[in-house]
Amino acid sequence: MRVKTLTPLWTGGVNSKVDRIHETGLLGSLRWWYETLVRGLGGNVCNEEHKCDFDTQKYISSKANSEAERLKEAGLCDVCQVFGATGWKRRFRLSVVEDNIRDAKIQHPIKAYKKKYVSGGKEYVPTWYFSDPSKTNVSPVPPNTPKIGNFEILLQSLDYDFQIEIIKGLIQFIADWAGLGARNQMGFGIIEPIGERADASYLYEKLLTNVGNYHYAELPSLKNVFLVQIKVGNAEEVETFNIKCDLRRLFSDNKDVRHFVMGTAGEKKDSAKKIAAKIKISHPYNDNLMRIWGWIPEEADCYNKNWDREKIVSDIYKYLTTNYNLEVWREIDSKRDTVTPNITKPEKFLQSLLGL
Ligand SMILES: [Zn+2]
Repeated sequence: MRVKTLTPLWTGGVNSKVDRIHETGLLGSLRWWYETLVRGLGGNVCNEEHKCDFDTQKYISSKANSEAERLKEAGLCDVCQVFGATGWKRRFRLSVVEDNIRDAKIQHPIKAYKKKYVSGGKEYVPTWYFSDPSKTNVSPVPPNTPKIGNFEILLQSLDYDFQIEIIKGLIQFIADWAGLGARNQMGFGIIEPIGERADASYLYEKLLTNVGNYHYAELPSLKNVFLVQIKVGNAEEVETFNIKCDLRRLFSDNKDVRHFVMGTAGEKKDSAKKIAAKIKISHPYNDNLMRIWGWIPEEADCYNKNWDREKIVSDIYKYLTTNYNLEVWREIDSKRDTVTPNITKPEKFLQSLLGL
């Protein structure tokens, strides 16, 4: 697949020595979305505490009729069957050819200039810092800088039973609705395939085989995501950070909720309290479009009994519709959905997102 970046792409691992597009960064976001889609359909997805481990003996002695059943008996969830687990290789190979890639010019540091906050009686302007590619005295060296330009994703099936079109469809889905690579909450990762759109029907058919009754109230799932596009006037990169500040402020009355939704680096050397942002905001791209997407779980009982998903999502919706032109809002079983409101079946919602 040939791909063009619409906002810079960031795939670098922190300790990585090589400054290029890292396959692992792409695979990470592909797996994240595959898990999210399978969870939404009620499929079987392992978790951090119980990761899959392939049992060769069970696989060999399995009397099941289908390969998927045999793999399940051998201990693999629906996602690990495709993306691999201990003892079981990923069903496909992914590599990157950088045909016309360069370092993105990143504004650094960037200040959300419209916003001023008061903390401990002092006024301050929220500021974000990035590695400066023009400096050498930074860590890591050389810095893993975000990239822009065109590149090629080479995909190859490693199993006659696995159709590589499934992965092409997944990349197309990410290109249509979300971001590739890491640090999407910093605006990175909007891409567009060059040439023909990938046929998403292979992905759809594959995912339909995973439909089940598992329920994931606290994890990212097609059932709790929202996918939004807004139009902004003369947008600059700083708009991403202005929106970020405004969304943070929506939850200013509850620090736990704010950190849970918008993420936190952890307070003062306590990196154990680091929480990943659940809401991502792209830089402006293509004629002042911006993309905002995220997931808000039904339950987050580590916080309090007053957790209210509907209120959080509806506050975000109100903020965006009040301040921007809303182009698209997609959300399952919701009156807010601008294409087909109140789709209750995940299969139907997925079909609609895939444009099938
Ligand atoms: Zn698994």
